[in-house]
Amino acid sequence: MKDRIRNRFLASSVVLLFAASVSVNPLHAEGDSEPAYDLVISNGRIVDGTGSPWFTGDVAIRGDAIAKIAPSIAEPAARVIDVGGSVIAPGFIDIHTHARRGITQSPAAPNYARQGVTTVIEGPDGSSPLPLAPFLAEMEALKTSINIGSFVGQGSVRSAVIGAVNRKATPDEVQKMIGLVEQGMKDGAFGMSTGLFYVPGTFTPTDEVIELAKAAGRLGGIHESHQRDDAAKLLDSVNETIAIGEKGHLPTHISHAKVVGVANWGRSAEMLALVDAARMRGVDVTIDQYPYTASSTSVASALIPAWVLEGGREATLARLKDSGGREKAKAGIVMMIRDERGGGDPKNVQFANCGFDPSLAGKTLADLTVKRGKAPTIRNAAEVVMWIVEQGGCQGIFHAMSERDLVRILKHPVTMVASDGEVPVFGRANPHPRSYGTFARVLGVYVREKKALTLEDAVRKMSAAPAARLGLADRGVLKTGMKGDIAIFDPATVRDTATFQKPHQYAEGFSHVIVNGEVIFERGEMTSARPGRVLFGPGRR
Ligand SMILES: [Zn+2]
Repeated sequence: MKDRIRNRFLASSVVLLFAASVSVNPLHAEGDSEPAYDLVISNGRIVDGTGSPWFTGDVAIRGDAIAKIAPSIAEPAARVIDVGGSVIAPGFIDIHTHARRGITQSPAAPNYARQGVTTVIEGPDGSSPLPLAPFLAEMEALKTSINIGSFVGQGSVRSAVIGAVNRKATPDEVQKMIGLVEQGMKDGAFGMSTGLFYVPGTFTPTDEVIELAKAAGRLGGIHESHQRDDAAKLLDSVNETIAIGEKGHLPTHISHAKVVGVANWGRSAEMLALVDAARMRGVDVTIDQYPYTASSTSVASALIPAWVLEGGREATLARLKDSGGREKAKAGIVMMIRDERGGGDPKNVQFANCGFDPSLAGKTLADLTVKRGKAPTIRNAAEVVMWIVEQGGCQGIFHAMSERDLVRILKHPVTMVASDGEVPVFGRANPHPRSYGTFARVLGVYVREKKALTLEDAVRKMSAAPAARLGLADRGVLKTGMKGDIAIFDPATVRDTATFQKPHQYAEGFSHVIVNGEVIFERGEMTSARPGRVLFGPGRR
């Protein structure tokens, strides 16, 4: 017995010696000039993404991957960055973005890179390029600084098969849509997104969504949803998102969870209780959220009833010309300003970008109503909303959420951080500040100032949690063998600076951002490196 133990001990010593010699060998065999690593990041507080407490250490990178993590790495490296006690974290994975708005013009995506984001996922809210393959090929050819992947959008699929109309699909049409979802998955989507709040998603019965979700799930994908309603029917919508996962047999995910409209504030508690109950019975449901109490979408989507928008722009304009149609539309708009995205007052609606009049960016619906010669009442503002749509429409920002709901949702264990942002052209229009500030804001405001989250948990919500949700096995955690996507920041100074009044301001506190082993941002500047890759979902992998 003793001998066997000793033998086993000896055997394991041999293995250890052998392993040590293998890792040391290249250094000695190849001679003096060949460094062991391309890069060593030393003297950091390592927050590894799993939620575990940070520890002091160094991270070594060889090629595009993490080669070693240890308390101290002394072997020679082509480059050493001493981060002086800053946090070394996995690069952030933004699971919900509209990056295709702008990434072609700005492939460096500095708004994302400068806040530590190393991966953005497109195709949200039911809206994706279709077919997906040419878009992903275009992204590959573009040479971006950060990685990009995509969902396939149910709304885009439905539009392609039956248009933006309010009717049930025939069995034949459902088969066609399933075919398009499968094609999207095989092209590399991470799953199917829905935008049941938007036209044409809003015209889709739940059963039809479930049939398509099953197809995405069979190929390993997940379902993520901009829910049908974030206001009065919030809880019905949460139940619907859960049912899609439960009956569709795939993971399901609530995008940018929010509670819209003063009358609904506080309902985040019930919303999270539904999520908890679903998880208790085995439904894999998760959440993402941006850390702002204002949302952003088109003025038409936010403030015009869906029936007015059915069938496209010409049909909408015809309805608004008809006096009966206009009165009925106005009643709906009044309700949506009063109880929903309008936040109860036209001054809570801000313009991000109006194609027909760029000077309106940053102004409010109240400002414009006054400018058009009327008192800024809700009824007068409703007229102006219809006028805006007739002029060609605006992107808007809608201040209609409460800080209390925001924090409650953020703290929930299954909530991840995601921007819902885009790649703005620097200085143009007045976009929602989330595109510039989301991740830095969570670290600065909700970790350091409000102490709503620990640093480790916040990083987990930005890295390991979205990586796991997407099935990305080689990113999101700092560990030997994982891809070299890394964000380095000073936890004492990290902060967002973009505001609703002055959104074009980069986050502060990040010293280096690394993608696939290459430094894309350092000393306050983007480098010329463009190591970003297209990431593919399970149907293609
Ligand atoms: Zn959305």
